[in-house]
Amino acid sequence: MFLRLTDEQKMAQKAIRKFVEKELMPLENEVLRNEREGRPSLSPEKVKELQLKAKEAGFWGINTPSEYGGADLGNLMMAIVIMEVSKTFVPFQFGGSADNILYYANEQQKKKYLIPTINGEKKSCFAMTEPSAGSDTRNIKMTAVKDGDEWVLNGEKTFITGGNEADFVMVIAITDKERHKATSGRDGVTCFIVDRDMGWRSEPIHTMGHSTPASLVFENVRVPEENILGELHEGYKLGLEWIGYARWVVGARAVGAAERLLQMAIDYSKERITFGKPIAERQAIQWMIADAATEIEAAKWLVLNAAFTLDQGEDNRHLASMAKLFGANMGNRVVDRVMQIHGGMGYTKDMPIERWYRDARLWRIYDGTDEIQRMIIARNLLKGHVKLGQFL
Ligand SMILES: Cc1cc2nc3c(=O)[nH]c(=O)nc-3n(C[C@H](O)[C@H](O)[C@H](O)COP(=O)(O)OP(=O)(O)OC[C@H]3O[C@@H](n4cnc5c(N)ncnc54)[C@H](O)[C@@H]3O)c2cc1C
Repeated sequence: MFLRLTDEQKMAQKAIRKFVEKELMPLENEVLRNEREGRPSLSPEKVKELQLKAKEAGFWGINTPSEYGGADLGNLMMAIVIMEVSKTFVPFQFGGSADNILYYANEQQKKKYLIPTINGEKKSCFAMTEPSAGSDTRNIKMTAVKDGDEWVLNGEKTFITGGNEADFVMVIAITDKERHKATSGRDGVTCFIVDRDMGWRSEPIHTMGHSTPASLVFENVRVPEENILGELHEGYKLGLEWIGYARWVVGARAVGAAERLLQMAIDYSKERITFGKPIAERQAIQWMIADAATEIEAAKWLVLNAAFTLDQGEDNRHLASMAKLFGANMGNRVVDRVMQIHGGMGYTKDMPIERWYRDARLWRIYDGTDEIQRMIIARNLLKGHVKLGQFL
């Protein structure tokens, strides 16, 4: 059980915070300017330079196992890193890591896909969602049919993060129609690693925020048998594992962003004078600050508990759903209050609040909507999979 970070964790948190404050936050105005003028948020050279600096500072493969050259600090530390780095909107990710499900790769696949991904030489994406299957992931239509030593993939995936840039995709397709039907979609699907040069195409999808996912089209894409990730017909479990990890990560992002936004609101409220007094002296403003701070703290505990539970090798999916549901909604409420406290200034593109406001809306949608998280949490309790008070 943890109630405070260890000295080692505190030191790592401090070092990451320093990196974010020294290297990333000073770039915020440049990012806003670049985006206003239609340029990429950061130049590729700048991203490379930042990654190198991060690597030199030891921020590499935070939760990547040491056998792959990572720091192996675990998920709790990863949650802390994500919270710190989410205090800025400068789009930057520490390198040296790979999607959790890529560790199911066999030795040959590890050499070809996992190691180059960890080393930053290859980019991946994960594709489950289809036009007919978002929340209802069991309704996928994409098929893979065996032909000699190869599988032939046909279908369309949509809203795939990183799909425009990825060198390969981990994609879920039906491999046994009968089994798929008989198990209501839980079985009979397989995860394939598919290189872009095997023939899939991507098209960007423009959104109201800064995420530009892709739709992926597969037309008779031939994939060798050796590119099956994990077990044949059992890819659905990999899909759930991928999403399960992504969920508490969304909560962590929301906590980091909300903490920074609230600090901006606190600072602004002390400077902004109306009717002869700083607005910080008005109870209406103080209550918004108090509610935001309380919710941030609550969300932080949910996220840390979800990450900690995973580090203990326990099933954290219930907590991950709660961390995502509460974190995402908390983030949306906080950014709204922070905009309110800033008045007209908060609504302008001279400040990053409206940017965060648009991006925060996505937190309630991807990796399982609010409604789906509520469905999971209620089902776990009603069916007795999870007992109240089980985790703390
Ligand atoms: C920017 C972005 C990035 C994404 N990245 C990825 C990715 O990398 N890989 C990937 O595979 N997918 C990705 N997704 C897909 C994402 O996970 C889905 O959009 C999400 O799960 C919702 O599915 P949907 O959009 O089809 O909505 P739908 O499932 O059509 O839902 C529509 C509405 O109905 C509600 N609803 C649905 N079923 C129920 C129910 N049973 N009870 C009550 N309400 C219900 C939903 O909550 C929602 O409000 C991404 C999406 C976005 C927007």
